[in-house]
Amino acid sequence: MGNAVIYPGSFDPPTEGHMNVIERASKVFDRVIVAVAINSTKQSVFTPDERVSLLKKIFKDNASIEVDKFEDRLLVDYAKSKKVNVIIRGLRTVSDYEFENQMSLANRKLAPNIEILFMMAESRYSHFSSSLIKEIARLGGPVEGMLDPSIAKKLKEKLLK
Ligand code: ADP
Repeated sequence: MGNAVIYPGSFDPPTEGHMNVIERASKVFDRVIVAVAINSTKQSVFTPDERVSLLKKIFKDNASIEVDKFEDRLLVDYAKSKKVNVIIRGLRTVSDYEFENQMSLANRKLAPNIEILFMMAESRYSHFSSSLIKEIARLGGPVEGMLDPSIAKKLKEKLLK
């Protein structure tokens, strides 16, 4: 079965920065499970099913990348249900570090057998965030290069209605 990693996130929408982490992780692990969080308390532009299908389309030719959803539950419990004990997160900025450090310490306490690894964003992606890209798109700005063209098109359709 090989070693597997879970890459959790909101992916609303998935950006080229997320894709970069997924592709790099797939070179290190035999299986990457991209886990789209269904967070009922967060407002989103794309439904969880839409986010899953956007990601599935992009990685349809890569058998080592799976896309799944996880409902309102602890990430560590989701990882256990998948029998995976490694989680990966991307790090862009010092503010990511502060947040992720706190989260990883909490998760470590909840599940000491699960390792959380961090991958530094490549500099060309380190200023990409789903929320910033949504704001640019909402105001009619160009989001090419930040999103896969198919996703950019759908985002504009949603926001510029
Ligand atoms: P969350 O709502 O859980 O932060 P996101 O979809 O915003 O979910 O991000 C998922 C993960 O991807 C997080 O670990 C985040 O730091 C990372 N990430 C987001 N954008 C980038 C990027 N441009 N480069 C590298 N990692 C990123």
